Amino acid sequence: MTTNSSSKGLSVKPSYDDDNVFARILRGDLPCQKIYEDEFALAFYDINPQAPVHVLVIPKGQYISFSDFSSTASSNEIAGFIRAVGSVAGKLGVEEPGYRLLANTGLDSHQEVQHFHIHLFAGKPLGPMLTR
Ligand code: AMP
Repeated sequence: MTTNSSSKGLSVKPSYDDDNVFARILRGDLPCQKIYEDEFALAFYDINPQAPVHVLVIPKGQYISFSDFSSTASSNEIAGFIRAVGSVAGKLGVEEPGYRLLANTGLDSHQEVQHFHIHLFAGKPLGPMLTR
């Protein structure tokens, strides 16, 4: 008897939506306020800033979320992306007095755009991590 993932109750990995807003920015179909770009990553200002500095860093590859990226990207892509995030912080000059990184992943986190991204917040004391 053959089995498939649904008959076993396993979840099926959703496929990457090539029309998500960050895919369109990467293709150059939509504009962005670019801060940094290299072979692994693109960084640009968030369109709806939640802090004086609010930047998004996205990998060039098609990854839906942090879970997807961390489990399926190559070590080279992961290292390159993380280094790019550090370069963005350096370029923005926010290492002192500091900044916050955040990656929403999945429904409970309210991840809206289904292309993995890291938010970088800075420019004021950022307060406690989550509202209680
Ligand atoms: P998340 O809820 O973690 O998926 O965050 C998605 C972020 O993308 C939000 O902070 C939006 O303001 C931001 N965003 C959506 N569209 C654009 C766009 N065209 N350019 C820049 N940022 C965007």
